[in-house]
Amino acid sequence: MRFPEFLLDRTSQAFRRGPSYSNLIVLFAVSSGGLVAYADSRSNNGVESCQGPPKKKVLVLGTGWAGTSFLKNLDTSLYDVQVVSPRNYFAFTPLLPSVTCGTVEARSIVEPIRNIVKKKGGQIKFWEAECFKIDPTSRKVHCRSNIGTNLDGNGEFALEYDYLVIALGAKANTFNTPGVVENCHFLKEIEDAQKIRRSVMNCFERASLPNLTDEERQKNLHFVIVGGGPTGIEFAAELHDYVIEDLAYLYPGVKDLVKISVIEAGEHILTMFDKRITKFAEEKFQRDGIDVKTNFKVVKVSDKAITMTNPSTGEFSVPYGMVVWSTGIGTRPVMLDLMKQVNQAGRRVLATDEWLRVLGCRDVYALGDCATISQRRVMEDIVEIFKVADKDNSGTLTVKEIKDVLDDICIRYPQVELYMKTKQMKDFWDLLKESRGNAKIEAIDLSIEDFKKALINVDSQVKNLPATAQVAAQQGEYLAGCFNRMKQCEENPEGPRRIREPGHHRFLPFRYKHLGQFAPLGGEQAAAQLPGDWISIGHSTQWLWYSVYASKQVSWRTRMLVMHMFIVAMLHLPQHSILRRAITWTRQPHGEAAINQSFRTSSLMAMGPLGVEKSRSLVWHVALAPDSS
Ligand code: FAD
Ligand code: MG
Repeated sequence: MRFPEFLLDRTSQAFRRGPSYSNLIVLFAVSSGGLVAYADSRSNNGVESCQGPPKKKVLVLGTGWAGTSFLKNLDTSLYDVQVVSPRNYFAFTPLLPSVTCGTVEARSIVEPIRNIVKKKGGQIKFWEAECFKIDPTSRKVHCRSNIGTNLDGNGEFALEYDYLVIALGAKANTFNTPGVVENCHFLKEIEDAQKIRRSVMNCFERASLPNLTDEERQKNLHFVIVGGGPTGIEFAAELHDYVIEDLAYLYPGVKDLVKISVIEAGEHILTMFDKRITKFAEEKFQRDGIDVKTNFKVVKVSDKAITMTNPSTGEFSVPYGMVVWSTGIGTRPVMLDLMKQVNQAGRRVLATDEWLRVLGCRDVYALGDCATISQRRVMEDIVEIFKVADKDNSGTLTVKEIKDVLDDICIRYPQVELYMKTKQMKDFWDLLKESRGNAKIEAIDLSIEDFKKALINVDSQVKNLPATAQVAAQQGEYLAGCFNRMKQCEENPEGPRRIREPGHHRFLPFRYKHLGQFAPLGGEQAAAQLPGDWISIGHSTQWLWYSVYASKQVSWRTRMLVMHMFIVAMLHLPQHSILRRAITWTRQPHGEAAINQSFRTSSLMAMGPLGVEKSRSLVWHVALAPDSS
């Protein structure tokens, strides 16, 4: 066994051994910066099976960020839990762009879902299958296994549920642009990253063949990224580094013919970030020679050329070697079908209420990229809010009456506080003052018209949550918390007062806590926008990125592997990375097949100078361990 593998093996064994390692903080000081890895390792409380009435059936669809976070936080002793997903592993998507160029190995960012199941004391049943129909009327989900068939010969089966948790994620959005599905790469899954990796190499090999004109070589080495969002930009930056640091050494004859283009329909790239970050990224890409085309819309992709249009140039085509399409997300067919059944057919994405319950059906929850929270507007409920507040039915509100309901209003309608924050108001009385001039409000009774006037603008602050791992993971944790406290909260509700019905809501509504976002820009530089509009750009931000993403790994095995890769990257070892990547390429077909075949064979993905066999033992060992985080 190689030393790094031995080290990882021993370390992950140590972490698995006992609860005494809980809440362990590992601190590595790396020169003037710091790499901090933190893991909250929860003890594996054995779950006792209890006698009594049959447990309610919870069926979870999907093993991505939302589904896995739900499972990790759920008290599985309370429910009969089943999980369905065509993927028997969790993938840490923020590091997918790094897999495309070999900075991080695929096996370092995937964790078998059965590991998580094992930690729950075997209480969860996992079925590797795809759900193709959700039937909320008969409370059934129809699934199809893609790895085998049942006695009927078609691999289909149906599962019943009492509670359904839908965490199916989303598919890539092509906007129905002709030729995209046939000719472009997407970057959503591990397999996509591996295909891109192989395709980049193929482009270089094709460009190096004899008897080609320079024009043909240039065509093969033209890499086009459609979409200037965080994923597209991160991939462009990774690819640029890969070409400069590694491929230039391997293919010196064609290195000067490489061109990377980013095509963005909007006016700028990274528009979800602060303007300073956008400007820095655009300038950095210009310095790096990455061609950023803003205000260009792709209208067609053939097998040889990509056609785009711009108001000043009109329509034109450019030949390419490889196109990566990264223009956002769309709804999966199974979700569109469900939306029809629950009267949400006209919507772009499935809507839930603030408690993540799907609107239009009972006991069905949806979270992550497959759904969006439809925040109730204050103006829709203003008459009812007034009635609830006006306890003495006088037709006006006293200061005391308002104070009595204020907390409930702020919890139920978070836009009220958001509005006050953006207007730099101290409290609700400032809102009233805004609508009534500077008149003294303490002494007067408020009519419904005054009340409406005060709140008329707050709904402008209602915003959809972004489709990110951060949101999905927080929703999973929130929902698991609700399921864990279902019984207690039925007896003692902890949510705000109901506005249209008597009583209180059982739970507090979901509240997203934004922890900031990163944009790695290549050349060991990154940009970060942290809460409070704190902006950080540069090399130290890249180290922060390494630290955060290492600490967010779901197990100690992946955390160690990712940290190992990051340290190699930080130490700027081009020769090392050439070696690492070259070895990876030679074994690529195994890797791709392995991940397609799921984790039973994924040990084959382990690659290293000493060969597949050695690495395989490491992966098997880790995958079968009872507790690694
Ligand atoms: P997913 O994580 O996509 O999981 C969906 C699950 O459903 C999967 O297990 C899938 O196999 C399963 N599934 C699909 N169809 C079916 C079916 N028919 N039946 C059963 N199961 C099914 N977010 C950030 O916050 N920060 C980042 O840096 C970041 N970087 C990203 C980089 C890339 C390249 C990508 C693609 C995404 C990135 N994101 C990032 C976004 C983030 O990955 C998503 O928002 C997140 O994955 C959403 O979680 P989810 O659980 O809703 O969906
Ligand atoms: Mg009154």
